[in-house]
Amino acid sequence: MNRRTLLSLTAVSLLGGVSWLRATEQDDTLTQTQSTMTTLDLDPNDLDPNPSSITPITLSKDEWRERLSEEAFYVLRKEGTERPFTSPFNDEKRDGQYACAGCGLALFDASHKFDSGTGWPSFFDAIEDRVETKRDFKLILPRTEYHCARCGGHQGHIFNDGPQPTGLRYCNNGVALSFIPKA
Ligand SMILES: [Zn+2]
Repeated sequence: MNRRTLLSLTAVSLLGGVSWLRATEQDDTLTQTQSTMTTLDLDPNDLDPNPSSITPITLSKDEWRERLSEEAFYVLRKEGTERPFTSPFNDEKRDGQYACAGCGLALFDASHKFDSGTGWPSFFDAIEDRVETKRDFKLILPRTEYHCARCGGHQGHIFNDGPQPTGLRYCNNGVALSFIPKA
C-alpha cells in the first residue's frame, strides 16, 4: 500500500463517517417529527372531559410548550400564578363545567363556583377524584397545591376560608381552565 492509497482510503472512511452521522441525525429528526405529530393529535377537545376512569397522560416539557400558550405553560407546567382580575372566568356565571386547559378533564362544576373577591376564579369543591394535592413551600408557609389528576397540570391552591358546605376555597388560575357550557 503506497502513501497515496492510504490517504484516499482515509478520505473515503472520513466521508463514510460523515454520511453515517447525517443519516443518524435524519433518523432523529424523523423520530422527533413523528412524536410531535402524535402530540398534536392529542387535542384536549378529543379527550373525554368526564371519563369513567382517569388514564394519566405524560408529555415532555417541549411538547407542552408547543401545545400551550405562554401564559398557560407558565401556570400549568411551572406552577406560576396569573395576575389577579385578569381571567374572564371571574365573571362567568353560566351553567357548565370548568376543565383543565392542558388535557380537557372536567375539574369543577359551575355549581361549585363562588365569588371570592380575590380576582381568581374560586370554587368550594372539585369534582371527585379530578384533582390531586401536594404541599408546597413557595411562599415559605406551607400551602396545599392542587393539580389535574390526568395531566398533572398545576391549577392553584386550596385554602380553608371558603364557604359551606366544605369551608374550602380552591383558588384557581383562570388561564389553566377552559369552560364547557352546559348543552
Ligand atoms: Zn389536565
